[in-house]
Amino acid sequence: MAINEKRLAEVFVQLCETDSPSFKEAEVADLIKNIFSELYPDAFYEDDSASTTGSDSGNLIFRFNGSNPGAEPVFFNAHMDTVTPGMGVKVKRQDRIFSSVGDTVLGGDDKSGIAILIEAMRAIKEDNLTHGPVEFVFTTCEENGLLGAKAFDHKSLRAKMGFALDMDVTDQIITKAPAANRFIAEFKGLSAHAGLNPEQGINSIQLAAKAMADLKIGRLDAESTSNIGVIHGGAATNIVPELTRVEGEVRSHSEEKLARYTQTIEEAFHQAVDTWTDPTGHATGKPSLKFSVSREYPAMKLHNNSAVIKRVEKAASNLGRNITHIATGGGSDANIFNGYGLETTIIGTGMQKVHTTEEYIDLADMVRTTELIKSILTTA
Ligand SMILES: [Zn+2]
Repeated sequence: MAINEKRLAEVFVQLCETDSPSFKEAEVADLIKNIFSELYPDAFYEDDSASTTGSDSGNLIFRFNGSNPGAEPVFFNAHMDTVTPGMGVKVKRQDRIFSSVGDTVLGGDDKSGIAILIEAMRAIKEDNLTHGPVEFVFTTCEENGLLGAKAFDHKSLRAKMGFALDMDVTDQIITKAPAANRFIAEFKGLSAHAGLNPEQGINSIQLAAKAMADLKIGRLDAESTSNIGVIHGGAATNIVPELTRVEGEVRSHSEEKLARYTQTIEEAFHQAVDTWTDPTGHATGKPSLKFSVSREYPAMKLHNNSAVIKRVEKAASNLGRNITHIATGGGSDANIFNGYGLETTIIGTGMQKVHTTEEYIDLADMVRTTELIKSILTTA
């Protein structure tokens, strides 16, 4: 029997209409567990990542042994959480196109991935098709720092290669994604009364502004970007602000450039603080800077001859399709899995305009992707 479009659509709508903002994935996790428990009662376990992430659910893992235990195990990944505004989603269907009614995201990012994996397993079971060992990893908090994937115990997986369903265009795969650093710069000046004795203060907001003014941000080169995304500073208009906190990020496909660009920002900030001169000679101290860098996620780079790419290409060619390889500027769970040494590519599901209230998806694209997943599973 072919893929059941009606059933795929119903599960997709049900998933979208079940709230699952980051940190509150338990309800949708229960729904997924219930669906699979009819088909494969022993396949499920939940990890203990909730205690690390702070979510009300752990990551869900389903393990299917298959009828060809000698085949190379693979895993599939999708994330359960959605971005805001994502509460109370009502799905609107016009012919084959699904969207929200307009006041929320649809949540096809990434519930299309989950619905597709459910339908692929149902179709395979109905047809009694032979497949090898496979694991599904449904993560929490992907949209919030990839926290679920970061807290996942990857050693519990049998598979060494995987496919994340978390991208727009069908029959495309992502083979390259950047690494990212996050930085926090705390400019410390001196507080003083803004009207009585401003000359005793050091304005940390102005200092931070000077430090940032000549920085090159945005697109740095073909494979690198940077951004300053958050600034907090000051307490009231009548106080010279003592503290200003600047948060930003740098991304690059090259680790060497990532390190260099991050260092350039740090040096520019330090220089602004070090070269500060007291305009009146009455300040009672000097400014200082605390600059900290943390790694958000590692880069991913898959070679054309890697086993995971060969597997998806063979599965596609069995369907008479070609797979296009692309690079992305975004980071996702797949970066984390690749960082664990698990070669993981990202497959498009058809989701469009994600992270906006105009998000939509065409059922035909979900069917197309389900065929591909089914083919990956049954192509040894
Ligand atoms: Zn996503």
